Amino acid sequence: MSALPSEVSSDSDATPYPHLFRPLDLGFATLRNRILMGSMHTGLEDRARDFPKLAAYFAERAAGGAGLIVTGGFAPNLVGWLKPFAGKLSWRHEVRPHRQVTQAVHAHGAHICLQLLHAGRYAYHPLSVAPSKLKAPINPFTPRALSARGVERQIASYARAAVFAREAGYDGVELMGSEGYLINQFTVARTNKRNDRWGGDATQRMRFAVEIVRRVREACGPDFILVYRLSMLDLVDGGGDWNEIVHQAQAIEAAGATILNTGIGWHEARIPTIATSVPRAAFAGVTAKLRPHVRLPLVTTNRINMPDVAEAVLAAGGADMVSMARPLLADPQWPNKARAGRAHAINTCIACNQACLDHVFENKRASCLVNPRACAETEMVPSRATTPRRIAVVGAGPAGLACATEAAARGHTVDLFEGSDAIGGQFNLSRRIPGKEEFEETLRYFRNRIEETGVRLHLRTHVERDTLKDYDAIVVATGVTPREVSFPGADHAKVVGYADVIEGRVKCGKRVALIGAGGIGFDVAEFLVHEGPSPSLDPQRWMHEWGIDPTFETRGGLAPAHPEPPAREVWLLQRTPGRPGARLGKTTGWIHRATLKSKGVHMLGGVEYLGVDDDGLRIRIDGEERLLPVDHVVVCAGQEPRRTLFDALSGTAAGVHVIGGADVAAELDAKRAIAQGTALAAQL
Ligand code: NAP
Ligand code: SF4
Repeated sequence: MSALPSEVSSDSDATPYPHLFRPLDLGFATLRNRILMGSMHTGLEDRARDFPKLAAYFAERAAGGAGLIVTGGFAPNLVGWLKPFAGKLSWRHEVRPHRQVTQAVHAHGAHICLQLLHAGRYAYHPLSVAPSKLKAPINPFTPRALSARGVERQIASYARAAVFAREAGYDGVELMGSEGYLINQFTVARTNKRNDRWGGDATQRMRFAVEIVRRVREACGPDFILVYRLSMLDLVDGGGDWNEIVHQAQAIEAAGATILNTGIGWHEARIPTIATSVPRAAFAGVTAKLRPHVRLPLVTTNRINMPDVAEAVLAAGGADMVSMARPLLADPQWPNKARAGRAHAINTCIACNQACLDHVFENKRASCLVNPRACAETEMVPSRATTPRRIAVVGAGPAGLACATEAAARGHTVDLFEGSDAIGGQFNLSRRIPGKEEFEETLRYFRNRIEETGVRLHLRTHVERDTLKDYDAIVVATGVTPREVSFPGADHAKVVGYADVIEGRVKCGKRVALIGAGGIGFDVAEFLVHEGPSPSLDPQRWMHEWGIDPTFETRGGLAPAHPEPPAREVWLLQRTPGRPGARLGKTTGWIHRATLKSKGVHMLGGVEYLGVDDDGLRIRIDGEERLLPVDHVVVCAGQEPRRTLFDALSGTAAGVHVIGGADVAAELDAKRAIAQGTALAAQL
């Protein structure tokens, strides 16, 4: 097999992304394009009764044009479970439910591999095992060190599970050798302290990985896809160095792998790898660095979310496929839209993690903030309206946009009224925060969707009860209004609103206090400590800030972090005692806290506001009065629903509905707003 497999006749010439849509000949199977839907746990893997939903979820992505799909992780045995009763494939009776998944995917011309993931010391249960008895910093359970016979048993489990996967109709398996799971725990000195044949120098430590590949290949035969997910950048102390990674890749190739996928960063790493603030394709250089050292097709990954990015990576020759998981959760039709030159119609993953990974970590079924149908394909079935109606939607924030476009797609005549001169609502603020540039993509998607569905958009239009009397249904999505604060000096010239700051109407001085440390307080703090172009748009600068070795050669790929000096001195305050930011997203909150800490932001809880005067903001904390000598005090104290119109409409003959922040402002987030707007449209 060659690194640049022979070209098979295709429609790749007819697309703006010819490298992305060139088939990949594996010798015994041909993938129809270079798009690998990466493994992602959805919560549907864990119970056989959810497999019809899992099959529908994957079928939709296969119909959308993905080339090769990799399932979420299944443990090869019970001790390898991620958590009690998580998905596993170790007994024959577990094979049958998988057939509905493989058949559904094959019916749409895609290939599918089952991911085998043994959690090792990341297992969230007391049966966990690992190369050595070392507890992970992110897990309360301490693993048992495997005996030599125990190691043999794990290898045998992988081979048996791979045979079961083949029996279930999978085209292959992906072996999860990265992200700090069991195989990765064997390959690095950080977690492998053994002195038998499975530990010691780099060759001995990688023996476990190589032996699994060899035994799976032997058990499943030559015509079975074997993807190996190699940790090319561990991003932890005591991780692999570049020579070890090359050596491992070559040994995995020799042992019989078909494709090498890229893994970036352990779960316990303290460097973001997939969050929205990570620059697009930031880690593609790692895969490109390996390209000359192996002949196998290489897959690159992390923060590739639009076709131009994917095409550029492939065209540069640094990889043979791109892996995308969340982008296909956000838009199952991503490949078909890209191939047809309709990238502007893609519902782009904004890498927020709010409905996918955060849900999984909270033991909830995954979904997607911008696509609430994700993982609910059998429950939210698109349908045409039986009776087309005239519908007015007032407010073009996320809730109103979702409702208006879905209702119009169902065949209703929809007028969308917006008082300002642009759609987007709170998203218009988010997209201006450094590291949140992706939010603009959602607005681009909705602009296109408005056109496609025929929604009649009326910007700069304030509507009253009387304007709306001819509609069959009225949807009030008027959003929120910032909460005002009341303490002495709240009307002082220093006191300003967060929207004025973010939209540039107020330029803050060098010292600023923020009242309120919710999502918006954190956003405004990031806005104020940065100046100039966002580091998220410049991978080299971003890596320098976070401490990633730009040559990827050091152990773990780590280098000293060099946070750029803050543009301002900022105090982020809340009345609630304790650490600000405790309620931010599970998988991203730590990134926001770490960024602000690196910029020297003073984050204070248990604050009492005494007043604002010409000298600054006076507070009491721990019983002591303090003066913060600030130039500005920015109020980020949450919101109240804007419901004047809704209240005025009571008693109207038409059906009146209220959604989004106008419905409930507390804990407002775009996930709820879009889900609520979409659900209402399905009922209109
Ligand atoms: P929020 O999360 O409700 O936070 C409001 C903050 O204001 C709290 O820290 C609260 O803390 C303080 N506060 C409330 N009433 C106050 C008063 N009367 N006087 C002084 N302080 C007061 O609201 P938000 O920050 O506006 O965010 C709104 C929503 O947008 C969030 O729920 C979030 O879901 C979403 N959002 C999320 C992100 C994200 O990164 N995921 C970013 C932006 C927005 P104390 O009461 O302790 O003082
Ligand atoms: Fe992407 Fe956010 Fe959707 Fe997850 S929830 S797939 S990160 S847009």
